[in-house]
Amino acid sequence: MSKISLSHFVNGLKCRVHNHGASCAVDTLLEIFYYAIYRNARGKLNPSHISNELFACLWDVSTQRGITQKCTCEMRDIVWNYLVHQLPNAFYPKGRNDAEIVQAFDLLGKRMNHLLISHCDVSLQCGTCFHRSQISIESNSVVTYYQSLNENVKGDFEKGIEATMFKHAFNQANTQKACMQCQRDVFVTKMAYKMADIVIIPMGLLDAQNMMTPPVCVKEDITLYGNRYHLEAGVLADPGHFVAFVADNTSYMVLDDMQDNISHYATFSGLVSGKPNDFSREKTW
Ligand SMILES: [Zn+2]
Ligand SMILES: [Zn+2]
Repeated sequence: MSKISLSHFVNGLKCRVHNHGASCAVDTLLEIFYYAIYRNARGKLNPSHISNELFACLWDVSTQRGITQKCTCEMRDIVWNYLVHQLPNAFYPKGRNDAEIVQAFDLLGKRMNHLLISHCDVSLQCGTCFHRSQISIESNSVVTYYQSLNENVKGDFEKGIEATMFKHAFNQANTQKACMQCQRDVFVTKMAYKMADIVIIPMGLLDAQNMMTPPVCVKEDITLYGNRYHLEAGVLADPGHFVAFVADNTSYMVLDDMQDNISHYATFSGLVSGKPNDFSREKTW
């Protein structure tokens, strides 16, 4: 096996040429996109069909990166400037040390269709005239799970995610109360999932007080509504810092923009136990 030297994005605070400020949120997003999304979707996805500007931006930068095998400040700025402009609440002013990566993932899932959006086809029937109808409920994973995954997991990761998705679709379906024919109440008779190719699952904290309890075991391979998923990447939120980890053949690499070296772990649990267990979203650098 040939050894290629891996480059990764270096935190703006370590740049000696420019005055960037802190960049770990955007660096982490770039690493995850490149390794977990771009490398898997390249060849399967027609970039001209991408209607999500953030996705298109990340795709372009990843393509440049793939060709040059370099991670430059200029490449990062394309994505960073976009985030600062589009998500001012989370990224403005540029270089702030409390940028919110979850909002970038949220934006990334918008209008991305099957790659990042799961659908639930809900069959409805009128309780009065028995008229049947069907609606399709979209779930951008980030939005769907962020609010309620903590309370639904109860120790079982897969069941917790399924329960959260179910609740989301069921609640959405129940907003469609009236029968088209007689205006009386309709009832859900069947729900069928078409899962996205890539599922993004936010977990951990909603705020500093809201820890996930009980602690949940995140497995490398999970099955959601009959579809198998392998853990390809994630964000580790150390106190004050976001760090990306990505799957690399048989191991996981930790790409920390404040560190020159890339560390490798054989398993995800090894990776996590090598890190402090202390999650916080207060400040990032
Ligand atoms: Zn720079
Ligand atoms: Zn009816």
